[in-house]
Amino acid sequence: SYLKLPGTLTRKGDNTANRPHRIARLLEVPDGFAVARREVLEALAAQAPAKPPPPQRTYRGRGQPFDLAAWMQEHGIEVKSSDPYQGGTRYILKQCVFNEDHTGTSAAIFQGADGRIGYKCQHAECVGKTWTDVRELKEPAYRRPDLREAQEILDQALPTIQVNNRQLRDVTSEVLEILEKANRPEFLFVRAGGLTRIALNEEGYPIIELVNESALRGYMTRTANFIKVQKKKEETVVTAVPPPLDVARDILTLGQWSLPPLQEGRIQA
Ligand SMILES: [Zn+2]
Repeated sequence: SYLKLPGTLTRKGDNTANRPHRIARLLEVPDGFAVARREVLEALAAQAPAKPPPPQRTYRGRGQPFDLAAWMQEHGIEVKSSDPYQGGTRYILKQCVFNEDHTGTSAAIFQGADGRIGYKCQHAECVGKTWTDVRELKEPAYRRPDLREAQEILDQALPTIQVNNRQLRDVTSEVLEILEKANRPEFLFVRAGGLTRIALNEEGYPIIELVNESALRGYMTRTANFIKVQKKKEETVVTAVPPPLDVARDILTLGQWSLPPLQEGRIQA
């Protein structure tokens, strides 16, 4: 047997006058058989579970500029006065975001006509400080919306490093960068090709010692938050973890660090 497709020519055997090839037809049509009209299909499709709405971006709606005034209010940034600026607004702050002694009219946040935001403090100490620095200071995880929920387990003053689902070399270089930045006043040095620190011996004399894994992990936990980020169903779960031992080992065996050399003079002081 073979399949007859309704509406097509059935060509079984020769096409003779007695038994001509005919267009196949449906001989029996079940009740309720009907060609689904487009509207019916659309109505059915509309019953499908809706996709979850995209996550709300804080302070920014679709095509809308960042609501700077709302953000400043929420983060305790006090505005002294405001005036028009390049088609937008300039807010003179009561004080600099980075140093409360910088007052007068030295610090301002401005938003241009295109919505772009800038920060400027006239004090030498704040040269190079940008709006990104301001935002990072006040809203540490703003570049990682998935971490917003985890704020309570993170030290707000420290940078946050994700240690899972990443290559060791990437975590290592991020940790190193943070250690090098935090190394003021200096506590880590390079001497004779090893990572060293100055410690006090039992008589209170400063001695030079190699930094071991435990010491390095101690420095790591004091300079950054270490976290694991996992997706569980729709949720992002952030867990605080100790500084990874493999990262500490990787750093110690690098052999090259952007850390200051330790000179004899330092320990005689
Ligand atoms: Zn300043």
